[in-house]
Amino acid sequence: MRNVRKIPQLKNVPVLVRTALNVPVENGKVTNSFRLRQALPTIQYLQSKGARVILAGHIGEKGTETLEPVFQAMKQFLPRLEFCPVSIGKQAREAVRNLKAGDVLMLENLRRHRGETMNDPDFAAELASLADVFVEDSFDVCHRKHASVVGVPTFLPSYAGFLVENEVKELTKALKPKSPSLAIVGGAKFSTKEPVLVKLLSTYSNVFVGGALANDFIRAEGHSIGTSLTSDTPAQNIRKLLQLKKLLIPRDVIVAEQEETVTSGRAVTVDMVPSNESMLDVGPQTITALEPFIAEAKTILWNGPLGRYENGFTEATFALAKAIVKSKAHTILGGGDTVASLDAAGLAKRFSFVSTGGGAMLDFLAEGTLPGIEALR
Ligand code: ADP
Ligand code: MG
Repeated sequence: MRNVRKIPQLKNVPVLVRTALNVPVENGKVTNSFRLRQALPTIQYLQSKGARVILAGHIGEKGTETLEPVFQAMKQFLPRLEFCPVSIGKQAREAVRNLKAGDVLMLENLRRHRGETMNDPDFAAELASLADVFVEDSFDVCHRKHASVVGVPTFLPSYAGFLVENEVKELTKALKPKSPSLAIVGGAKFSTKEPVLVKLLSTYSNVFVGGALANDFIRAEGHSIGTSLTSDTPAQNIRKLLQLKKLLIPRDVIVAEQEETVTSGRAVTVDMVPSNESMLDVGPQTITALEPFIAEAKTILWNGPLGRYENGFTEATFALAKAIVKSKAHTILGGGDTVASLDAAGLAKRFSFVSTGGGAMLDFLAEGTLPGIEALR
């Protein structure tokens, strides 16, 4: 994998940079700019070498969202930034032609084109035709076989940006933790997290499972879980993991009737979940029980929230973060929304390394590489 410093010629050269622009937006305003700040070193390096920089990224899941609010937020960091309301075609080519050395152009949301997520070669070719060089700097999508991730590199000489290079370096280190080590995995969608959990159970001294992921384990232990969210992972897979001594699960949880409006609940032990209520966060006893593991660990890796934080169930996540940043361990944090909420609370910057990847981080840890990384080799 070559990094941007290896690009032989940059003066006046149009460079397409896949950038992580998918930041949280509320009422037309970016509410957290962590990822945007992480994108700056590569962009500013290219600008300083006189390249004509084209930023391509996506926002949202629906394929209809606009990057306009992201452009407004990014312009505060990059005064020479312009916006192009399309991603490909005549108007985009014209906007690129108008760029001067050191200018930056942000293309509209790539996912407005179905060809992006379908990895349509025609769409990839159109996108690639805007530039002479491709730079991958959006680690968070490197696990996706999308046109801008694996398609474009088949058409252009391709390099890793500083962010991607650093992610690969740091997460490769995280695969060989210093003992004793502690991994924490939260969030939802057990089925997508099973491979990484298995991998972490073979490389880390202890693995704590929180968030909705823990619900499957609590059920497999024979407890009633009420109306809690679970996955369709076969019970025998869960039971096999449960037998491993190094697997840690919650002892107490916060329960409430699961209504969209519910924002708080009460703590109960895992054997006391009422049939009409859901587990929405990890309880305080569980955090206390984790403290000795945190205190002795030399490496701590964490991905995914411990509770339904969108509804305000952030208490356990914040308490855990505070305990972790106080430890002397090498600490690694990841997960798009987890990072955004801990960044807003001023806690993210106290971790040794913060990954911009959510699913990408987990896949990298499970596989040791990603399609978007392989595409650069
Ligand atoms: P993915 O990216 O695969 O969706 P995440 O790690 O982003 O997985 O999962 C985060 C989601 O998990 C959030 O929407 C959060 O509300 C949810 N979550 C975490 N804990 C719980 C829980 N106990 N009950 C319901 N949802 C939860
Ligand atoms: Mg997520």
